[in-house]
Amino acid sequence: MSLVIFNTLTRKKEEFKPLNGKSVSLYTCGPTVYNYPQIGNWRAYIFADLLKRYLTYSHYNVKHVMNLTDVEDKIIREVALQGKSLQELTGFYIEEFFKDRDTLNIVPADIYARATDYIDAMVSLIKKLMDNGYAYKSIDGSIYFDIHKDKEYGKLSHFKLEDLKENALNRMKKDEYEKDNAQDFALWKAWTKEDGDVFWETELGKGRPGWHIECSAMSMKELGESIDIHTGGVDNIFPHHENEIAQSECATGKMFVKYFMHNEHLMVNGEKMSKSAGNFYTLEDLINKNINPIAFRMWLYTSHYRTKTNFTLEAVEGTMSAFKRLKDAYLALGEEVGSVDKKYQTKFTEYLDNDLDSPKALALLWDLVKDKDIIDKDKKATILDFDKVFGFGLDKLQEEETPNEILHLSEEREIARKNKNWKKSDELRDQINSLGYEIKDTENGPQISKL
Ligand SMILES: [Zn+2]
Repeated sequence: MSLVIFNTLTRKKEEFKPLNGKSVSLYTCGPTVYNYPQIGNWRAYIFADLLKRYLTYSHYNVKHVMNLTDVEDKIIREVALQGKSLQELTGFYIEEFFKDRDTLNIVPADIYARATDYIDAMVSLIKKLMDNGYAYKSIDGSIYFDIHKDKEYGKLSHFKLEDLKENALNRMKKDEYEKDNAQDFALWKAWTKEDGDVFWETELGKGRPGWHIECSAMSMKELGESIDIHTGGVDNIFPHHENEIAQSECATGKMFVKYFMHNEHLMVNGEKMSKSAGNFYTLEDLINKNINPIAFRMWLYTSHYRTKTNFTLEAVEGTMSAFKRLKDAYLALGEEVGSVDKKYQTKFTEYLDNDLDSPKALALLWDLVKDKDIIDKDKKATILDFDKVFGFGLDKLQEEETPNEILHLSEEREIARKNKNWKKSDELRDQINSLGYEIKDTENGPQISKL
């Protein structure tokens, strides 16, 4: 078996054949750094991480680039609103993004490309498009891509330009818009008063790049004109990725990306996440609700990346106890690491080779945990092998010592129980729970574990 992935370009599952042997160039559309990513964005980054981990597991050499959009319409609005400099605002959120990435045990990209470091590359790409007749300057000095010049425009989102005639007579300066609003889009935005201090003096005039050109320029600069895989959420398909393809292919005459992979939306309580609907969660919000970030990661695997998934606190709380069971079972396997069970490993790769079927791979992990025919040390080796792909960080897990405060409360509770003071004993149990521990009464006395 070999890896098969769903390619948004063809709307088909295809055998994965990299452009250069065992090397894989991978580009992921990263965050726009003017606030904290919401958990739907994290779904996209965890999906990219699963893909990257599995490619590495399958002996590919992956070079992974993620962009950090640090100049864009929303950022400029926020800079004006908060009275901060662009660097101050974006620098803060970039650091926060890295912290959250580590909390979720996401393997860092090889390169984090900040858009503002690539202005020169964007300018030369836009000049190339103007030279080739695909871009033009408007009266206000902004430069637009002429979508009618690109015969293949629409090939990713699968629509025909003819159907869009009316709208397409206009121009679009905004970075984000809907498919029925396809228009010539801005590559370079001439400076206006609202931009304040955010501008570059370049051969194209005083202004700033459009969002779409950023990713084309950075992907080509770091990974070459043609790359293997580009990932993002389905909301990136139009206009962002459609425009990336148009700009890049019209500038180079070469294929930009061989495989586009997109993850579906994460809904919250059955609705699209939005601040106004009050169902907007960041990673911090989950942590404040006592949700273990790695349990959130595990919960994401229970749905295939191409299916819409519905986040509810109850569902993730259910995964919390599953994750705890996994940790306990793993720790009970002892110190020794044996050899990986081949039968399980074959099944594991079979599932993941099929367009990253994480729900099946996860179910297999549970079969393995429960399998009485596999000796502990081999079970441990196989779980650790799977975890290279899952990324639960089990290798870093150690038996934690119970803090003295908890031990002390537990002793007090034993005394209360001996004296048949059930009220006090219950109170002490509640207190232990509120400190994040749970206590079970067994034949050998109380057993304490982390909640
Ligand atoms: Zn992008």
